[in-house]
Amino acid sequence: MESGLYVVATPIGNLSDMVPRAVEILQSVDLVAAEDTRHSAPLLKHFGIDTPMMAYHDHSDAGALARIEGCIERGGSVALISDAGTPLISDPGFRLVRHAHEQGWSVVPIPGASAAIAALSVAGLPTDRFRFEGFLPAKAGARRNQLDELAQESSTLVFYEAPHRVLETLQDMRDVLGGSRMAVLARELTKAFETVLRAPLSELVERVETDSNQSRGEIVLLVAGAEAGSGEITPEIARMLDLLSDTLPPRQAAGLVADAFGLRKKMLYDYLISR
Ligand code: SAM
Repeated sequence: MESGLYVVATPIGNLSDMVPRAVEILQSVDLVAAEDTRHSAPLLKHFGIDTPMMAYHDHSDAGALARIEGCIERGGSVALISDAGTPLISDPGFRLVRHAHEQGWSVVPIPGASAAIAALSVAGLPTDRFRFEGFLPAKAGARRNQLDELAQESSTLVFYEAPHRVLETLQDMRDVLGGSRMAVLARELTKAFETVLRAPLSELVERVETDSNQSRGEIVLLVAGAEAGSGEITPEIARMLDLLSDTLPPRQAAGLVADAFGLRKKMLYDYLISR
């Protein structure tokens, strides 16, 4: 086989999604660089692959890189895998792949599963343009700020989220992006409890609030992009805000109108305080 770095996708749950070429490559290379060797050992065993493995992630020490470098410089080949799905997609590997290009090594993709693409393919949201955001910040303030920056993005938004943060992230999405935005929670794709929930954000929040099973396992969240004009405050909305803010504090008035019209609370609040 040609010397170089092979970037190999592995399944995101269902082992039958392993592509035959991935098995061949993992069996043929001299070394498999895995995000976590203990995690990947059962996968390799399942496919009868006995290639030596080493741990590699973006914070590995210089020794790990030197071992990969040594192998490829001697004319050998190394396969990079992560715990699941496609390496580099919210997974380690970027530094190694950049280094490979800098060294002039051949870099070969062995495509396969990726949760973001699997989720997009079944979400029923526009796929002609999408924006992959990976994981939002864990802290509420930073997460809301990032959502706020995305509020006018017209492409479909794709996020990865940890199960224990799914509900609060959905609540933030509802508050910042507006409850009427269509969204999809794609859970445990390719596995026994695979579920795809598609509903406006306000309804999706209710579904997860009332059924904690819906936030279990591995989850991709997708949100429809902003519609043209969704950032505008129409005269009707402005009048309602004006009336409510005669008797209510701006934050509360903005919250009521945001809920009623599925609009972004922050946009309405900013309007009220800048009048
Ligand atoms: N490299 C992987 C890929 O190509 O999809 C992603 C790795 S990232 C560390 C793990 C996140 O991907 C999970 O927290 C979840 O958001 C998403 N994910 C992975 N497997 C999934 C699955 N079977 N169903 C839904 N989401 C999944």
